[in-house]
Amino acid sequence: MWQLVERRRRRFIGTLITAAVLMFVGASAIGQIFGDRYGMITLLVVLIGALLFIWRDWRCPACQKGLGVEFRPRVCPNCGARLAPPGS
Ligand SMILES: [Zn+2]
Repeated sequence: MWQLVERRRRRFIGTLITAAVLMFVGASAIGQIFGDRYGMITLLVVLIGALLFIWRDWRCPACQKGLGVEFRPRVCPNCGARLAPPGS
């Protein structure tokens, strides 16, 4: 069970980093080329896209309920499934 959460957490972090890079690099580049309004739109689209992806993906593998903002949950707050590696 926890291996799945571990993999999802890595994807979670990857999404956050990708989104942050896209927001800073992409949005400012687009803002410079096409104007500030398009930069803002890019920023919003990336932010919403990343949040949606995390919201859909960051779930307990046992009960499929969201894990909230807890980054390293030891147990699922909904069903109590163990989500941390044994011995941690
Ligand atoms: Zn659960």
